[in-house]
Amino acid sequence: MSKVVETDIAILGGGVAGLWLLNRLRQQGFTAILLETATLGGGQTHKAQGIIHGGTKYALQGSITAATQAIADMPAVWQACLEGTGDIDLTQVPVLSQHQYLFSTNKLAGKLAGFFATMALQGQVDQLVPAAYPAVFQHAHFKGLVYALHEIAIDTQALVRELVKPNQDVIFKIDPLSDDDLHVDAAGNITALLVRTARSEQIHVQAKKYIFAAGSGNEFILAKLRQPGLQAQRRPLHMVVVKTDFTYPVFAHCLGMGATPRITITTHKAHDGKYVWYLGGQIAEEGVKFDSAKQVEIARQELQDIFSWLDFSSAQLASFLVDRAEPLQPGGKRPDSAYYKEIGNAIVAWPTKLALAPKLAEEVIACLEKANMKQGAFDTRALRAFPVPALATPIWDDLL
Ligand SMILES: Cc1cc2nc3c(=O)[nH]c(=O)nc-3n(C[C@H](O)[C@H](O)[C@H](O)COP(=O)(O)OP(=O)(O)OC[C@H]3O[C@@H](n4cnc5c(N)ncnc54)[C@H](O)[C@@H]3O)c2cc1C
Repeated sequence: MSKVVETDIAILGGGVAGLWLLNRLRQQGFTAILLETATLGGGQTHKAQGIIHGGTKYALQGSITAATQAIADMPAVWQACLEGTGDIDLTQVPVLSQHQYLFSTNKLAGKLAGFFATMALQGQVDQLVPAAYPAVFQHAHFKGLVYALHEIAIDTQALVRELVKPNQDVIFKIDPLSDDDLHVDAAGNITALLVRTARSEQIHVQAKKYIFAAGSGNEFILAKLRQPGLQAQRRPLHMVVVKTDFTYPVFAHCLGMGATPRITITTHKAHDGKYVWYLGGQIAEEGVKFDSAKQVEIARQELQDIFSWLDFSSAQLASFLVDRAEPLQPGGKRPDSAYYKEIGNAIVAWPTKLALAPKLAEEVIACLEKANMKQGAFDTRALRAFPVPALATPIWDDLL
């Protein structure tokens, strides 16, 4: 007979979704533990660019979409947390940039002037005078337009660290689950979750609710639950990291003629103190069909074309593929908002954006409150030998 751990809620997955939920659920008086099979944040969360979108990105097509509305409240929620007045204390999480700058290349400046003017009129962006341009655009050869978009970028490594900090006593590293570790009955209720860590005996986790916030790892539970209406999708990206000798950071969307920015750049500090430009946007979406050598070559050309006045010859580039894990959408499109589904005593959840993790947590809490769950026994002694999982290292430090 294996030893038993009892808790109100067992969360599987230590990315932003699981960690945010853990903080909020414990604040609400639920007892909770979080189980992680690898490193904390090491899934999509540490690979995110850290932009707290307010929806303007989705309004680039000129229309207010469901996605725009769903995310519109998020910047204020994050801002309150960063200032120490929100639900979670994120005062130790650095804001890497107060703005994401929108810019056009010289060639498109004329074509995009009207679009920028409309956005400025709606108060979504501010036009900058050249003297206020960020350092990278302070060059005689730059003749495009620069606007400031009110979207902050945060340090996702620090975010994970701060979300973990008050919860070290209830976060445990477990071995990857095998088919025999999770038992589900015909009604979709989890009847057994068995976990172990290296060399330990198997422990039986008894929870009133099991929340699966495991990113692409949620596919494992979906296969067990066999719910026809609930499937997952993965949307791949081929991201590029560029270590430079430049002495300034860049946070910018380079607009092309399409709805997705031609390139989205955020900047992060590598372990040696150098700036790493992190490239997403269209280049990452279209780059999934190329191998790494080709993707790096394309990125170098793109950067040289967009920033013709900069010298990238000594820059070190590397690329990697990563999937965005989400609930299946018609045509494999981007989901509009955070998503959760309750099936028996399980909840399967994806925030679909880092910025939407607070919204997901509020929705899950509302769902649990509706069920009127009473606090039950809490005993984690059997997990005493289980280590706290390590924080993931930044991807640029792994690659460069
Ligand atoms: C390249 C990229 C850039 C992005 N940029 C942004 C951005 O700028 N702004 C934004 O808002 N969003 C962004 N996103 C989206 C955002 O990163 C994700 O929506 C968010 O991080 C998902 O968090 P999560 O906790 O659901 O998943 P993850 O971060 O993937 O975490 C899932 C965790 O579950 C663990 N796990 C897996 N299986 C199991 C199991 N069986 N048991 C226990 N644990 C398990 C994994 O090891 C992992 O740690 C970006 C995504 C990508 C890929």
